[in-house]
Amino acid sequence: MKTTDHRGIGMTSPRTRLRMVDKLRQEGIRDEAVLAVMADVPRHIFVDEALSHRAYENVALPLGFGQTISQPYIVARMTELVRGGQPLEKVLEIGTGCAYQTCILSRLAKEVYSIERLSSLLDKARQHLRQLRIMNVRLKHGDGHQGIPEAAPFDAILMTAAASHVPPSLLEQLKIGGRLVLPLGTQDQYLYMIERTNEGYTETKLEAVKFVPLLAGTA
Ligand code: SAH
Repeated sequence: MKTTDHRGIGMTSPRTRLRMVDKLRQEGIRDEAVLAVMADVPRHIFVDEALSHRAYENVALPLGFGQTISQPYIVARMTELVRGGQPLEKVLEIGTGCAYQTCILSRLAKEVYSIERLSSLLDKARQHLRQLRIMNVRLKHGDGHQGIPEAAPFDAILMTAAASHVPPSLLEQLKIGGRLVLPLGTQDQYLYMIERTNEGYTETKLEAVKFVPLLAGTA
């Protein structure tokens, strides 16, 4: 059990967080609702105590089990993209990890579902959400390729591990007008945004990114 105070002091203080948000703004994040939430959520809670002094640097950090917590810029960027300036009702995240991105989404959506394939990470994620008293998130141990058909359709789906192709179930579980944001590719990865329209799907290729791979099955 971690003892870190979640208000934070010194390198984990609210002021350090505001500096991180200033950098995100300089890097082109425009959605003020996203920036406000990132200024408020204590990211150091989600990383190992030994790394908490680095929690507000714009870098990916190790989570254990070979996985990484995404850098703040990419969390902000993907959240801005799925939101498209609109309040969100029901969101699905694939790849809970430490649940930092989950927590950001929980503050901008009514309900968040998040799937993680590694049960050991899911336990950590649960602890972090409990610590911050987040009640509108449902975590699921499973393979994100399937999505969660029984909770669909979603206004937004965000995937934080890179796939070689778009899992078809996720397309089906998107609402009309909904957005799926995900990294695609094996060697060279790019962020894609797929929107479901009345006629079908539109696909936009965005910036180059670097994510851990989306793997099959659970562990
Ligand atoms: N959003 C997380 C990112 C963690 S890295 C964070 O910021 O902490 C990506 C995560 O995706 C890892 O935890 C990995 O275990 C998980 N993952 C990989 N393949 C998956 C799959 N098929 N289904 C669900 N989760 C998966």
